[in-house]
Amino acid sequence: MSKTQSLQFARHLHPTPLPADQRAALLKNPGFGRVFTDHMVSVRYHESKGWHDAKIEPRAPIPMDPAAAVLHYAQEIFEGLKAYRTADGGATLFRPEENARRFQQSAERLAMPVLPESVFLEACDLLVKTDRAWIPDGDGSLYLRPFMFANEVFLGVKPSSDYLFLVIASSVGAYFKTDAPAVSVWVSTEYTRAAPGGTGAAKCGGNYAASLLAQAEATRHGCDQVVFLDAVEQRWVEELGGMNVFFVFDDGSLSTPPLGGTILPGITRSSLITLAKDKGIKVREERYSIDQWRADAGTGRLREAFACGTAAVVTPIGTVRGKDGEFRIGNGGAGLRTEELKAALVGIQRGRAADPHGWIHKVF
Ligand SMILES: *Cc1c(COP(=O)(O)O)cnc(C)c1O
Repeated sequence: MSKTQSLQFARHLHPTPLPADQRAALLKNPGFGRVFTDHMVSVRYHESKGWHDAKIEPRAPIPMDPAAAVLHYAQEIFEGLKAYRTADGGATLFRPEENARRFQQSAERLAMPVLPESVFLEACDLLVKTDRAWIPDGDGSLYLRPFMFANEVFLGVKPSSDYLFLVIASSVGAYFKTDAPAVSVWVSTEYTRAAPGGTGAAKCGGNYAASLLAQAEATRHGCDQVVFLDAVEQRWVEELGGMNVFFVFDDGSLSTPPLGGTILPGITRSSLITLAKDKGIKVREERYSIDQWRADAGTGRLREAFACGTAAVVTPIGTVRGKDGEFRIGNGGAGLRTEELKAALVGIQRGRAADPHGWIHKVF
């Protein structure tokens, strides 16, 4: 099957979607990842047939055989992107082509079939159009979760011959429950997230499974998130469990760890690098050690640090804690550079600022 193939999505609309008053009650304070829309999109893949059976239908449990490969060998990948409501009553997505391409790269790493970009985009558009009433107003958005898993009924270890691609959507507010101006992070020296040659650059569920114990350790130490060091030297800061990281220095410049196979290539990360350069801010993609981070926070050379990703956008890091004690960054709250970059990004995402790079994809 060619990569440019297009599919007709069959439409089975929900006979009894949630009534408007009940939906409105859910949208008042949706939190993150608990409120789901009426529909879901799916496409099947079989080795002999390629991609087929594309449809939108009422969101419902998926019947599954207990021997389905994903339940045993974790062949699963996912994406995350947000739909925003625009002032003219329309809806947009932010750089969805980048998610489609990253999904293809994740698929290749997990020995899964490559979903055509056009099918990924059409699936997202169709769900947003159909469930448009679920996009919250104000600061909220509709979080789309495209994912694919191995569905062959077979216990042998090999790439599956069957896959199911789905997109579900969740109305969301803020990612972090805390009202604090900045998050605290725990430096894990016990666990690592990704090793060279591993799956660190793929967005796969297995990476998250492997990060949960470290995240639990962070929580136990009173921290919001875990920050991982490289697996080889246990020295270089890589990223958080699900967010990339940036450092802001006293000369106004930025640095972020370089991609190299062990770091997830975030679309927020790449957008912020571009926006910073647009503003004439120097950005270095270079390794930064935990010892240097501590030293620079002490001397004031390091002014700010922040985490970034689609779900939580840009989140200042105020405190760094580890087995050797803790240190604070700047005043422990949000810094000016962090706020400036966040505002530039959110302005474009929300359609309040010009979009010089063509990042906004209009759904309707
Ligand atoms: C998804 C993800 C990110 C952020 O990527 P965005 O494209 O910016 O949302 C960062 N790190 C990990 C491990 C991720 O899974």
